[in-house]
Amino acid sequence: MKYGSVKNYIHGQFIDAPADRYMDVVSPVDGSLLSKVPMSAAAELDSAVQSAKSAAKGWANTPIKERVQVFFRYKQLLHQNLEELSKLIVEENGKTYTEAVAEIEKAIELTEFATSLPQLITGELLEVSRGIECRTEYVPLGVVASIVPFNFPSMVPNWTIPNAIALGNCMIMKPSEKVPLSVGRIAELLKEAGLPDGVFNVVHGDSVIVEAICDHPGIEAVSFVGSTKVAKIVYRRATYNYKRCLALGGAKNHLLVLPDAIPGMTAANITASMSGCGGQRCMAASAMVGVGEIDHIVSKIVDEVNKIVVGDNLGAVISKASKDNIEKYITSAEAQGAKILVDGRNTVVKGKEDGFYVGPTVIDYVTPDMDVAREEIFGPVISIMRAKTLDEALAIENANPYGNAAAVFTQNGGAARHVISNASAGMIGVNVGVPVPREPFSFGGWNESKFGVGDITGKSSIEFWTKLKKTTTKWNPEAGVNWMS
Ligand code: NAD
Repeated sequence: MKYGSVKNYIHGQFIDAPADRYMDVVSPVDGSLLSKVPMSAAAELDSAVQSAKSAAKGWANTPIKERVQVFFRYKQLLHQNLEELSKLIVEENGKTYTEAVAEIEKAIELTEFATSLPQLITGELLEVSRGIECRTEYVPLGVVASIVPFNFPSMVPNWTIPNAIALGNCMIMKPSEKVPLSVGRIAELLKEAGLPDGVFNVVHGDSVIVEAICDHPGIEAVSFVGSTKVAKIVYRRATYNYKRCLALGGAKNHLLVLPDAIPGMTAANITASMSGCGGQRCMAASAMVGVGEIDHIVSKIVDEVNKIVVGDNLGAVISKASKDNIEKYITSAEAQGAKILVDGRNTVVKGKEDGFYVGPTVIDYVTPDMDVAREEIFGPVISIMRAKTLDEALAIENANPYGNAAAVFTQNGGAARHVISNASAGMIGVNVGVPVPREPFSFGGWNESKFGVGDITGKSSIEFWTKLKKTTTKWNPEAGVNWMS
């Protein structure tokens, strides 16, 4: 085992969880054992909540301009440790080093946004009648929780940490049990940046901790990122317990390709979108709908995909179970009559024979009823469907229950506008395969890809992590009293 057992992080200390269950943390790169992660019990969560509670008042009463100084230093530390943090992501998640660096760079951008929060939450003040002023303030919620998935061990935790904490909250983080190591380094860097003990706590585990978070009366708000199945469980349970909840779920992103799309650029974009991070992105291109004659673009996609070198510019998928599941989808498409143009099954990387690799896969002549067209695969697989008209393609996109992202590839502005207006997704790309809005724009899908109001990053997140206090002030006793004041 390369690293010791993972520990919880409570009140600034790494603490052994008295767990009777541990899970192996296995590197997808080569199948080696990295660590063991404790499946903590509800009692550990309670210690973390008590720690956060004890820090909450002091942190909330620290002026925001002072609070964000921690994040100026944290951002610097992310820069300084970029190489080591990226290597850790590669080890525990299996993505490529370039992708891991991009993940830390995104964490830096998210932190940068948090340092601008003092400028964004100045509130409002107005003399509403003679001598009487109304003022609004954004007030922290108190203790909040963030539950995260495996596919971005650093970026997704950093969707919530800088904003929620800079806005004055204390946080309990529940990392994915598949990639628990990066969050430990985040805790160390936050401490080095000067974050007071108790403001950030980490409790490792599985559904036991997630359920305990939803039930704990000391937690005011829960953010969740993961599959739709679990997002629904968390949203229902947390809101049942009167907590604020924002739960982001899975995705099935459709790319609509028109015959006038620039073939090289379109193929490069689609290939990068379907294969980046092993296709394990909620923004990955998963289904493509060609409108009319697009064979020339399909053949370019096949050329691009064939340039990918698995184990070099395409990383591993998270586990053996995930590899098997992705391959099962490819086999089911074949059995249902689709044509496999590039087949990623049974891929082995020389020297990493025990790693979990699936090669990039292009499946053509998929119909909307097939499993590969309907379900999230979460692997480097693109399913190509055909439509006669743009509205037929949009009907296919609209019929899928998810709504994270959709994209259109065309040189026709009117057609692009038609897709922007009619696609049923929260994030739209025009000639962009992974339309992740960069800060300060907010990240969030629609439909079964998100439960709750608002988005998880950007300006929209301010509403989620704070509550408004409205104060009416009168200091002129000579002004009369009326029914409004
Ligand atoms: P997951 O839903 O299996 O796990 C997410 C978290 O929930 C983990 O911390 C896990 O421990 C916990 N969990 C798992 N099963 C649970 C259960 N039954 N009850 C309570 N908690 C449970 O997701 P994953 O496999 O880690 O991540 C991949 C999924 O996340 C994909 O569906 C992907 O699309 C989605 N995702 C969505 C976004 C987005 O922004 N919408 C971003 C990243 C990932």
